[in-house]
Amino acid sequence: MKKTRKSDLYERCVSAWAIEEFDFVDVTVTANAKIRGTISGRSRQIDVLLENRAETTPRARVIVEAKLHGRPVGIKTIEATEAKLRDVSASAAVVVSSGGFTKSAIRRGEKLVGVRLLEYDWLVSEFENAFDCCLSGSDCGDQSLLWSVDKIDGAGPEWLMYKYGKCVRCHTFHVLCRDCGGKFPVPDGETVSCGCDEREWGAIPESEASGHEGTPESTWLMLRIAGEFIGLQRKPIWKVKSNPKDRFGR
Ligand SMILES: [Zn+2]
Ligand SMILES: [Zn+2]
Repeated sequence: MKKTRKSDLYERCVSAWAIEEFDFVDVTVTANAKIRGTISGRSRQIDVLLENRAETTPRARVIVEAKLHGRPVGIKTIEATEAKLRDVSASAAVVVSSGGFTKSAIRRGEKLVGVRLLEYDWLVSEFENAFDCCLSGSDCGDQSLLWSVDKIDGAGPEWLMYKYGKCVRCHTFHVLCRDCGGKFPVPDGETVSCGCDEREWGAIPESEASGHEGTPESTWLMLRIAGEFIGLQRKPIWKVKSNPKDRFGR
């Protein structure tokens, strides 16, 4: 079956959503996947399967059901999706609908742990422009950098508007500071100033000095503003030492 532009678009958008929602580090996206159900013993068809490459447990597995026929999705679909979620040991199931959901479907969805209902139009408007070109200097491809949604922090005169991102290939953090228009990578272990006064962005491994107990596990994208640090996004610390060329064999 030939893939439509619509399905390409929502696959990208739903992966962008999942990376932000579930803190996925390195996601693989498989359209029209087949998984054998542990309960049913049958092969189950999954519209889009998202897996967190940084973890190999089924907990890092999210299934997506796409209903792009333009009619409201009903309760039967929600319940069938929940059953499929348990059958394939996924941690979450997402139903994307281009025609909304019936009231009973929404009520049922709210009661089911792990099932999420997303409107196609919202998903696309929120994440359509989430992908960008990685600026780290590595050969990562032009759709490899994934931005967060726009963030607004602070109150009063010191509003702060920015978004941050991570390259899905080389894992380098990036920042887009709306206040000065700066758009730049933040290499691991370094801090970078944007065009704003007293504003620094750093990619810093956690340590006892930063209040972390035990073995450090994450590198954080930190914003330093007026002497205060704000943690924005994390990635497993092993990413610091990994060479994407080794991992992907390119
Ligand atoms: Zn990159
Ligand atoms: Zn700035």
